[in-house]
Amino acid sequence: MLDTPIEYLKGVGPPRAEVLKKDLGIFTYRDLLTYYPFRYVDRTKFYTIRDITEELPFIQLCGYIDRLEITGQKQGKRLVVIFKDKTGTLELVWFKGYNWMADKLKTGVEYVVFGKPTFFKGRVNIAHPEIEPVTETFLAQQSAFQSVYNSTEKLKLRGLDSEGIRRLQRALAQQLQPQHIDENLSVEIINDHQLISRLEAFKQIHFPENAAQLKKAETRLKFEELFYVQLRLLKLNKVRAHTIKGFVFPKVGQAFNDFFTNYLPFELTNAQKRVLKEIRVDMGSGRQMNRLVQGDVGSGKTLVALMSMLLAIDNGFQSCLMAPTEILAQQHFQTFKNLLEPVQIKTELLTGSTSTKERRRIHASLLNGETHILIGTHALIEKIVQFKNIGLVVIDEQHRFGVEQRAKMHDKNTSPPHMLIMTATPIPRTLAMTLYGDLDTSLIDEMPPGRKPIKTLHFMETQRLRVFGFLKEEIALGRQIYIVYPLIKESEKLDYRNLQEGYDNLIHEFPPPQYQVSIVHGQLTNTQKEFEMQRFIKNETQLMVATTVIEVGVNIPNASVMVIESAERFGLSQLHQLRGRVGRGAEQSYCILMTGYKLGADSRLRMETMVRTNDGFEISEVDLKLRGPGDIEGTQQSGVLDLKLANLALDGHILQLARQSAQTLLDEDPLLQMDKNSVYVSHLISQQKNRPDWSKIG
Ligand code: ADP
Ligand code: MG
Repeated sequence: MLDTPIEYLKGVGPPRAEVLKKDLGIFTYRDLLTYYPFRYVDRTKFYTIRDITEELPFIQLCGYIDRLEITGQKQGKRLVVIFKDKTGTLELVWFKGYNWMADKLKTGVEYVVFGKPTFFKGRVNIAHPEIEPVTETFLAQQSAFQSVYNSTEKLKLRGLDSEGIRRLQRALAQQLQPQHIDENLSVEIINDHQLISRLEAFKQIHFPENAAQLKKAETRLKFEELFYVQLRLLKLNKVRAHTIKGFVFPKVGQAFNDFFTNYLPFELTNAQKRVLKEIRVDMGSGRQMNRLVQGDVGSGKTLVALMSMLLAIDNGFQSCLMAPTEILAQQHFQTFKNLLEPVQIKTELLTGSTSTKERRRIHASLLNGETHILIGTHALIEKIVQFKNIGLVVIDEQHRFGVEQRAKMHDKNTSPPHMLIMTATPIPRTLAMTLYGDLDTSLIDEMPPGRKPIKTLHFMETQRLRVFGFLKEEIALGRQIYIVYPLIKESEKLDYRNLQEGYDNLIHEFPPPQYQVSIVHGQLTNTQKEFEMQRFIKNETQLMVATTVIEVGVNIPNASVMVIESAERFGLSQLHQLRGRVGRGAEQSYCILMTGYKLGADSRLRMETMVRTNDGFEISEVDLKLRGPGDIEGTQQSGVLDLKLANLALDGHILQLARQSAQTLLDEDPLLQMDKNSVYVSHLISQQKNRPDWSKIG
């Protein structure tokens, strides 16, 4: 029944069906049933015309049509209805679909009108209101919470505004019988979480009896939605375990031991040790590893990656590390080279700016196995980059890479190499569970010892001189300073001017030869950037003025102050990333947020959050609440987040329960082969049919 084409529903027919398909993707009864209201209004409350004030949102009135006429010419043509109740009159206006409306409306009939009043030349009017005659059935169907549906101009022209869609929902609901809706959760799950049945939930979501019922319906449908996302992800993980033969790295050998015993520059933190162990277990298990390492900026992920790569080498495999930017790749390359030179491990760097000749040489040395470790940017993904025997792929700052890019690395060997994915942007748990829900995760939840927490201060433009004074004191102590300017694509020119102005200002305040200033921004060539970076790294310059090109990964322990200009223009996760560039040495470090005097509420909350806490996860939670899941970096490319009802910022506890239930189910029956679980398989399959983008996951 639910597969019935929508045109067969009472009140639809072919012309309306066409628009429903085109505009809303509603092809079948099922699609309509899962076209949920986007909000509800309280329809128990009636206003009188006299009480209408300018600030009112949507209101409901009861009264009669006094007269109606179609007036105006061409574009201005419209239907104007004078509507009255005991207390006064107002105008109802239709600019579209007015002929149809004019035919429908009658004087002498009592109507309920619903819409948003506006004031125009001292008169109240409501444009395109919903209007319904007050009949027995209308009153009987009137629930306290009335659903409101999104509609489109074309649909409205065909009489399918919110009210029209609700009429269709009503027609569908009346036909709906228990046998039409297959329950897709087991009795245990339903009982465990005290969920209402699917049928009941569908009815209540469109026509809630009261607030409590509506809440139950939402909970049930959100649970179901999140449960199937999790089931899909967790099953993917199990399927991979069964179908992909992972390379086995059984031994810890010369490379690892030599490095560990003789050249490791410091003691590993307990968190690093633990994560390394988790990785070793994975790589020795015969399963292909797909592990996400989450760790705040500066927690020492690079070293974990490096040591995992040594394990690969000890077992006869090559490995690569892919970073999102050229600068970061270069920095990793330097780190690796410095650390690995004494143990005779050959590391190469391949980026977009590697010369053709270099490139050829590197390609050859990868193929003959001379190069053990390749570090680079997206350039590594290209088909032409082939290895003799790659066993481990490390992806740094995963949120910058799409899932497809991850998948392409699978083809670099006869069997997919182990994947180690590192993310420095702490993301809220709910988001991690969904974005990376198919990965095993490790958490580096401990900072290397001796780090003092970074002090964060917020200053207004008017306090700039004080800030400069402080910077001079820090420089006198031998420290270095970053000054970062925003760079936002749409206003690149303007930003560039800000940066240049700031730089000129700074030179004035910090004149040579006493002070030296580096500048790095997007308009420089790579060689220029590299030159400027190197001057700063070598401590030849004390100040580094930059756009966010330094955002990710750069590591200069002597830099102890991060000044962020126009800080209100940065998102929280960016601010946190930037702050993470300092506090890497033993000195007390500072992050200074410079903003204008007037701040919006969101900006103020961002500044306050930064000043209050250094905890990346806490910050990411605030970020999620401020921006919603769709705007968090890395989420756009993921179809996983097209949730219809559930909201990852608000429904964390439902997600938690749903994931737990899916996990329990798969623990017992990893590939869902048991008879009693066939309902899950068929539901997953039908979802896949309806949502081709699901195939992107993983
Ligand atoms: P991230 O996790 O942000 O990638 P890095 O790997 O760049 O962090 O490490 C940050 C800094 O901490 C580097 O200078 C690194 O050498 C240093 N570091 C890493 N592990 C330790 C440790 N166990 N003890 C002391 N310093 C460490
Ligand atoms: Mg890093």
